[in-house]
Amino acid sequence: MTDITTFGELALPASLLKALDELGYESPSPIQAASIPSLLEGRDLIGQAQTGTGKTAAFALPLLTRIDYNLHEPQLLILTPTRELAIQVAEACQRYACHMNAKILPIYGGQAYTNQLKQLKRGVQIIVGTPGRVMDHIDRKTLKLDHLKALVLDEADEMLRMGFIDDVEWILKRTPEQRQIALFSATMPKVIQKVAETYLNQPKHVKIANKTATASTIRQRYWNVSGLHKLDALTRVLEVEEFDGVIVFVRTKIATIELADKMVARGYRCEALNGDIPQRQREQIVDKLKEGKIDILIATDVVARGLDVERISHVVNYDIPLDTESYVHRIGRTGRAGRAGEAILFVAPREHRLLNAIEKMTKSPMIKMDMPSTDQVNQQRIQSFKERISQVIENKKLEQFSVIIEQYLDETGADPKIVAAALAAIAQGNTPLLLTDKPFKEFKEKKESRKSDDKKKKKRDRDKDKDGKKRPLDSDLETYSLNVGHNDGVKPGNIVGAIANEADISSRYIGHIKIHDDYTTVDLPAGMPKEVLKKLQKVYICGKPAGLKRKQ
Ligand code: AMP
Repeated sequence: MTDITTFGELALPASLLKALDELGYESPSPIQAASIPSLLEGRDLIGQAQTGTGKTAAFALPLLTRIDYNLHEPQLLILTPTRELAIQVAEACQRYACHMNAKILPIYGGQAYTNQLKQLKRGVQIIVGTPGRVMDHIDRKTLKLDHLKALVLDEADEMLRMGFIDDVEWILKRTPEQRQIALFSATMPKVIQKVAETYLNQPKHVKIANKTATASTIRQRYWNVSGLHKLDALTRVLEVEEFDGVIVFVRTKIATIELADKMVARGYRCEALNGDIPQRQREQIVDKLKEGKIDILIATDVVARGLDVERISHVVNYDIPLDTESYVHRIGRTGRAGRAGEAILFVAPREHRLLNAIEKMTKSPMIKMDMPSTDQVNQQRIQSFKERISQVIENKKLEQFSVIIEQYLDETGADPKIVAAALAAIAQGNTPLLLTDKPFKEFKEKKESRKSDDKKKKKRDRDKDKDGKKRPLDSDLETYSLNVGHNDGVKPGNIVGAIANEADISSRYIGHIKIHDDYTTVDLPAGMPKEVLKKLQKVYICGKPAGLKRKQ
């Protein structure tokens, strides 16, 4: 591990620091702190990290500094296994480079060539693409790599799994000798190690170790984000859990302020804690938490490091941390001095990998938690409402009010129960006492209407081919054959990768694959539109035209 705790320490240009500040990034994640200095120095690098660790910024920030922005030629090439990742990485680069005059282009299979060619002609500096399409452009001489300064292989193990490694090597062989290479991979299978040995020059290895253990007094639960927005989920949790002090962790400085404001508006005694707040003021905020003047802190990782407040009963990971070590640091803020503590993690569907990594590291499965139902929340609200009445009866001098009420009852002959209810309504004001299912219902309804829109659209798309004619609604599979087989070294991954990326067919829809010596059969959805078939007929697999044909 390095001691770097701020982006300022990383010798990045002001334009990038400004962008990071605007994005609300407070400090580099471990993979960023470890990778950025070496990449800035121009060294090759092997980074073992997966999605969700901040690896995109780990390579994009330093490599964006290598580009000569007056030269309108490709200088940075980032290869990704899928089109989704290509788009995501291109967008991330765009965000980081927003104060630089960078021309960034994602290129991937399945997308029309016209726009790609137009953009390439205009002169792009950064290309993020899937191997097949990049290869294609190099072959057609529409993508020239003479000025390439750096190359990134992102998710190299995925590229191997999807059968792209030969394409990657083909591209690597066509890059200038002096280019810098960064290879990122979650795992390091032998083939990837071999590629690294062959093409990288004395690379620096970066692997973030997960060594810290979690206290056994902390109960760790997670909630799969669904059905409710995270903000509603947080307030529900706080309504039914018995808590004392709480730290809620979010990813950015901006999020600390936004969430703290919303929580205050919902009646919680809450403050934001982030690195933009001067040290003295930060100490005062922490003191307030210690003294019980506030109950909830919304914080980023850095400022909460080492925070030692005994009354913290709950840590809520509102945004999942970028690495397992941060998770351990975060939840270590509770369960202090042998007390029991509660750690709750909100996990979005695409963040499940990190959840698995955390479970693996802590060596204990986390407990799945259900969101408290509307009914549970309401029972709790009614209970505490009653307790408040008892407390007032016990602790307040009520003579003056009881005289007035007595007068009122005499004058009106009203039912005392109704009078008490009217007073409760006055005390409650405009905020409803009980929760309705509205947010949940709205969320569900929206989701369902989106789903049915999607379904309708899919049905429309499925029903028509390119000319708008109806196609049979048969979702069975049909068998196709390809002119490549064992003799060409083909593996199932090659087939899936090529078909998925070139024809935009999700790998889920690719059926049984049978590889013979000189040909392969593969089951694909029946009734594919002509244009998709045309694309598939042009696919290359293991450097050979695959010649896809419907099997008779
Ligand atoms: P990645 O692993 O590159 O897919 O990044 C995961 C998420 O973390 C993305 O939403 C990034 O915008 C975000 N992120 C990356 N680095 C940081 C950082 N240093 N501070 C806060 N968020 C970050």
